[in-house]
Amino acid sequence: MSIRCEIVSQDRTVFEGDVDIVVIPGTDGEMGILPNHAPLLSTIRLGIVKVRQAGQERDFTITGGLVEVQPTIVTILADAAENVEEIDIARAEEAKRRAEQRLAQGPAADTQAHLAAEAALRRSTLRLEMAQRFGRSRRQTKLPTHGSNE
Ligand code: ATP
Repeated sequence: MSIRCEIVSQDRTVFEGDVDIVVIPGTDGEMGILPNHAPLLSTIRLGIVKVRQAGQERDFTITGGLVEVQPTIVTILADAAENVEEIDIARAEEAKRRAEQRLAQGPAADTQAHLAAEAALRRSTLRLEMAQRFGRSRRQTKLPTHGSNE
């Protein structure tokens, strides 16, 4: 038995497929979604979405968003998401460098710009860490064999 999973970001469909389990970084904690899960709606924090499909695990960085769960489908609406194997490391390093430069200029008069730089730093740091941990030279990681279906 499987559950449909769709990860959609503002500019593209990042993943769609029938999977065994989806693990989501919900704002209230990590959620393991199995087929036939009870309906739920939750916000997602910056982190990693994991899906297992035919015994193979796929990992996606996500910068935040929403998830809607129905018994046969999990729909993730992401601010931005990428398969960790697609992460452009040079781009993330450059984004991190820019954000650090802006933050090093000290407390900005423009609070919005300061918050934006902090958020950009969090996104680029996540991408770099996850590309190293799960990227093309990934180590084998384990998903829980049993998620919840409550
Ligand atoms: P940048 O300043 O490099 O654009 P960003 O953090 O501002 O980085 P986002 O606004 O989060 O970028 O994402 C915009 C789009 O670019 C999304 O589709 C996201 O998946 C993609 N993206 C951002 N950074 C990377 C990266 N390092 N590798 C692959 N795709 C990326």
